[in-house]
Amino acid sequence: MRPMAELPVVDESRCTGCGDCVAVCPVECLGMWGAVPWLPRPSECVSCGVCVVVCPPQAIRLEDQD
Ligand code: SF4
Ligand code: SF4
Repeated sequence: MRPMAELPVVDESRCTGCGDCVAVCPVECLGMWGAVPWLPRPSECVSCGVCVVVCPPQAIRLEDQD
């Protein structure tokens, strides 16, 4: 287990549910929970930031997690 990692956090008020972030994640650790993406496998996230870059309304950011 890593001591600290940056993980994606979704601003649900901005997210349109397009699924782009889920589609581009290279390790497939994102999924859709209804119309909102979530991170069912956070330990697999490599903090690459691709989901952040691809999100049209800029609804994802990476945040340090304890
Ligand atoms: S930061 Fe990278 S690995 Fe982590 S959820 Fe986003 S696209 Fe996937
Ligand atoms: S790419 Fe952005 S708007 Fe689209 S589902 Fe992901 S967080 Fe929501």
